[in-house]
Amino acid sequence: PPGIRKISEKYDKVFVTGCLEPDTSKPRANGAFVVLARNKELDGVIQSIKSIERHFNRWYHYPYVFLNDGDFDDTFKDTVKNYTSAPVEFGKVGPDMWGFPDWVDPKVAKEGIAKQGDAAVMYGGMESYHSMCRFYSGFFYKHELLQKYEWYWRLEPEIKYFCDITYDPFLKMIENNKTYGFTIAVKELRETVPNIFRYASAYKRLNNITSQGLWEMFVEPQPEKKPEAPEPGLPEEILRSDPGANQLPDIDPEAMEGEKYNMCHFWSNFEIARLDFFRSKAYEDFFQMMDHSGGFWMERWGDAPIHSLAAGALLGPRDIHYFRDFGYRHTTIQHCPANAPARQLPREPYLEKTTLDEKKRIEEDKYWDEYDTPKENGVGCRCR
Ligand code: GDP
Ligand code: MN
Repeated sequence: PPGIRKISEKYDKVFVTGCLEPDTSKPRANGAFVVLARNKELDGVIQSIKSIERHFNRWYHYPYVFLNDGDFDDTFKDTVKNYTSAPVEFGKVGPDMWGFPDWVDPKVAKEGIAKQGDAAVMYGGMESYHSMCRFYSGFFYKHELLQKYEWYWRLEPEIKYFCDITYDPFLKMIENNKTYGFTIAVKELRETVPNIFRYASAYKRLNNITSQGLWEMFVEPQPEKKPEAPEPGLPEEILRSDPGANQLPDIDPEAMEGEKYNMCHFWSNFEIARLDFFRSKAYEDFFQMMDHSGGFWMERWGDAPIHSLAAGALLGPRDIHYFRDFGYRHTTIQHCPANAPARQLPREPYLEKTTLDEKKRIEEDKYWDEYDTPKENGVGCRCR
């Protein structure tokens, strides 16, 4: 969308061009990977860990926090710990953060969810999916295992990184005073969020929030209305001197006909962000208002449009970072950096000037290739 282009060109630049020797001497940021998962997703989780370890975390050793509304079994825990040398914690998500809150009538909510199932809204008929979206919208950052962290990097089962990440994105976010980072923005399925924008828009209006320039990214451009031709015979000075001539009536928050959601959102299965943003009073107010509308149940609001519209209301383009250099794929959607300097670099060039160090690298790469092939799907780039 044009909004993204505006951000990327004017307010935000790639942190690092090309490949660096990973500098692991600097102290790490106070951050962690956050993974919500179920036992049955172990294979997909391992795939994701292999990929992020291979392309980033083997150098940086950021800790992992695994969360689950059920209990992780020993197989899950032991297997996960086998694939990383970084610290790993496992936590449970209690009923205070999962499922229907007490002010929701479960009978009404279940009927609402069944209706969405009948209407074939994607995941609309799945109660657990609604819970998951609400958890990621208003609770994950309040989980006790995340209290000690200031930053998180969201990871999901079955994702893939294509390119080596040879710098610390947390430290770069801090250095550049960024709050929220994304790598893919897509359009939401309209039927999952019919009323989300009306509420987000009303939140903004009721709290007198003026856009810092990011909100516009989510607004469908309206066709420009032609100015009405002046009445023949009336001199222009008189038209202009009318003090009320250019005043538009205020729009009733209940009838947000002035603005329409363009369905754009940051795809939240990848996020690197400051937890402070979510822990702020402004975000909490936003979540409470959205939550009490019932939209997490009676519609199937995703955490992605929730995070995005909150960012739109509360942040400016300069607070957002587009990780355009991260090769990333989840299910059928991927981002492949066209400017990756080492894209599809063959292994051979290393061999020409083999030093002891490079021999070690080749060994290392061989080891990681057994887990994760960078050229799968025809894309991939490596720095080392
Ligand atoms: P999709 O990416 O939108 O297709 O949704 P996913 O099924 O991948 O779910 C998003 C994230 O939430 C993934 O990390 C899942 O593992 C996790 N998730 C979804 N539903 C549940 C659930 O009922 N329990 C737990 N513990 N995790 C879930
Ligand atoms: Mn997923």
